[in-house]
Amino acid sequence: MIRIAHISDLHFSRFSLDPTQLFSKRWLGNLNLLFNRSKDYLNARPFSLIPTFKKKGITHVIISGDLTTTSSHAEYQIAKRFVKELEEMGIKVFSIPGNHDHYTKKADRTKRFYHYFPQKGGGDFQLSQHGVSSCPLFFGWHLVLLDTTCATPLTSSNGYFSPIIEENLKKLIETIPQNEQILLVNHFPFFDHDLPRRRLIRGEKLHALISHYPNVQIYLHGHTHRHTIADLRPNDLPLILNSGSTGHKKGSWNQLDLEGKSLKLTVNRWDEEWKEIKKHSFSFTSKPWYHKGLRFKCTGCGKCCTGKGFVWLTEEDIERLALSLNLSEEDFRKKYTREEGFDISLTEDPVTDDCIFLREKKFCAVYDARPKQCRNFPWWKGNLETPKDWENAKKRCEGIDHEEAPLFTLSEIEKELD
Ligand code: SF4
Ligand code: SF4
Repeated sequence: MIRIAHISDLHFSRFSLDPTQLFSKRWLGNLNLLFNRSKDYLNARPFSLIPTFKKKGITHVIISGDLTTTSSHAEYQIAKRFVKELEEMGIKVFSIPGNHDHYTKKADRTKRFYHYFPQKGGGDFQLSQHGVSSCPLFFGWHLVLLDTTCATPLTSSNGYFSPIIEENLKKLIETIPQNEQILLVNHFPFFDHDLPRRRLIRGEKLHALISHYPNVQIYLHGHTHRHTIADLRPNDLPLILNSGSTGHKKGSWNQLDLEGKSLKLTVNRWDEEWKEIKKHSFSFTSKPWYHKGLRFKCTGCGKCCTGKGFVWLTEEDIERLALSLNLSEEDFRKKYTREEGFDISLTEDPVTDDCIFLREKKFCAVYDARPKQCRNFPWWKGNLETPKDWENAKKRCEGIDHEEAPLFTLSEIEKELD
């Protein structure tokens, strides 16, 4: 089991009178700090989590953004000290930036967050460059981090799920085995915020992408400062958890005890000290990526029967084909099959290399008795392993996702699977 603390929106702050801030959005942040936030946020409150985490045996901390208030160096230094103290206790800390961590154009352009929190580990995807990264979290679970921060105008705090990040996230998820569960972390929720100027721009694209991958089981976020538990799994979306703003005077954080496919969630709230206020339990089941069904209609183009390849035969196939051709099984084997190691395949036309039973490049001469492999196409394990395998199969077969193709349900597909 791993014990994760999900915290967010700590908003470490340091008031500044530096006149150069008049050239950036920071003057507004400092006014806000002076008249509003300073009443609600104390730098000491997140630090009080450190002994609490030690007492509770927290092994991992996930910070879903907004460690700072105006992304000043002074605030980053406090945030860095906080993370360092956690790491010195042997806790693994994963953090992503929020809009306040790239508050000014300069902080965003220079990717200040990554200067203070350089990302560890290699791999094809780096959070600072690609907006996505991942690492194994625990047996059967992968952690995927997203950075959707962007420079925003004076009174906005939008995020942006850009087409590039969308493409990278898709590619990254497809590198993770389908049977691995994914815990996805983003600062912003993907559903519409009440205020358009606080929304994740193109959030609907993230929504659509996530609903396409049923192994994205948990989505952690912050930004709204509202503690949220939304189990959207009946709608083909993940379990959504917002820790609330941990640094706030009514702050909260979540303890996630993850073991196999079960999650025990403990909600903690600040009330003079950190107190456990609620417990919930969830269990996860795996669904294949094609759980919403797939479209297919054979157009009879004959392409899958042409060229070199193997049409593997079972004993039942041989029996059925021999009967349909009025041949003994022995004669059928001699005339139409070849041995490949311990397996038997149909032979090919010596001139065209097409299947021996293909006529006029289109018609199967043994259609009613055709082998199981032909009947089950395209419902082969190799075509369904990942969405990419399905896309590759589509390049070879025009019936896949054909505009007139009917939808095969998950149970129909599973019945056909070889
Ligand atoms: S390639 Fe696809 S559409 Fe064409 S005959 Fe084969 S299964 Fe049918
Ligand atoms: S047996 Fe028929 S369906 Fe199967 S590959 Fe040969 S021609 Fe195509």
